[in-house]
Amino acid sequence: MTKVKVAINGYGTIGKRVADAVALQDDMELIGVAKTRPNFETVMAKDKGFNVYTLADRVEVMEKEGIEVSGTVEEMIEAADVVVDCTPGKVGATNKDLYEKAGIKAIWQGGESHTLTGCSFNAETNYEEALGKDFVRVVSCNTTGLCRVLSPLDKEFGVKKARVTLLRRAADPGDIKTGPINAIVPNPIKLPSHHGPDVKTVIPNINIATTAVKLPTTLMHLHTVNLELEKECTAEDVESVLAEQSRVRFVGQGITSTAEIMELAKDLGRPRGDMWENCIWNESITMYEGELYFFQAIHQESDVIPENVDAIRAMMELESDASRSIEITNKTMGI
Ligand code: NAD
Repeated sequence: MTKVKVAINGYGTIGKRVADAVALQDDMELIGVAKTRPNFETVMAKDKGFNVYTLADRVEVMEKEGIEVSGTVEEMIEAADVVVDCTPGKVGATNKDLYEKAGIKAIWQGGESHTLTGCSFNAETNYEEALGKDFVRVVSCNTTGLCRVLSPLDKEFGVKKARVTLLRRAADPGDIKTGPINAIVPNPIKLPSHHGPDVKTVIPNINIATTAVKLPTTLMHLHTVNLELEKECTAEDVESVLAEQSRVRFVGQGITSTAEIMELAKDLGRPRGDMWENCIWNESITMYEGELYFFQAIHQESDVIPENVDAIRAMMELESDASRSIEITNKTMGI
């Protein structure tokens, strides 16, 4: 089988995880990763045997630190069929010209706007929309988490109205610069938050409004989901639909917080302690005065990783069927 050549531009929280997931796929070949700084992550990438590329003006800096690079970002792009851009939000958009000139397909992350690609992606929801596309955006961790539950519930019962409060981690564990460290921050203060419109880039007709708050934690986001459904149903009916979703995991058995979920991920032997699935407390699934409520936790560093793999498969038309691609990705990653 000819493997699709994949390059990763930006090797931070998301990039290094996408690189590892791509390397596990039989139908893909990781041709290289691009790093701007010679730090421990660069050394780790070399240790894993990945080809490391860098910006043209960084080659000397890398080599001074003893890191041998395989070439420039431009050279990496030339050798690839598709690039997954995992540079920081808004930096990614500045790379579009480079990818267009090289004539390769590109995937961006949730830090970029929908207008950059015109196609915002979640595997369960709109895999088919990305088939053969040149440019696709894999939506943010929060939007991915919301699409994974809203989409099947909408198909089964019809979502009349979704109201979601997002309790957001302030920073990723490796980020020593971002706060707050001792405050609860309504963010944004202007309501509703941008997260609802972002869900609409994937599920256009959904009636959703969101509010968001930043909390001094690095361990996961937590969503309080409240839905009005078109069809009458019980909490058990909802639980049955969610139980069928391969990227949803029910939690209980003494798990009362995001900290314990992260401990579970480590106990499961997950790489980097990642939790790729939405974690829903099935005990929280409740119908109250005709409305549905539940809590779900989202591991911001990792839930979008399988979605990136599926996006590559759709854009390169390696698999036309969403459920088949999801199955392959889940199996290779161990979901
Ligand atoms: P990050 O800061 O951890 O990693 C970005 C990497 O890109 C860093 O290694 C940085 O050195 C490198 N970089 C910076 N400028 C570059 C350039 N011009 N060319 C190549 N590399 C460059 O960021 P991240 O958290 O991985 O976020 C990447 C994208 O993923 C953003 O769009 C973000 O919004 C999105 N995202 C992040 C999370 C999360 O929780 N971290 C979750 C989902 C989506």
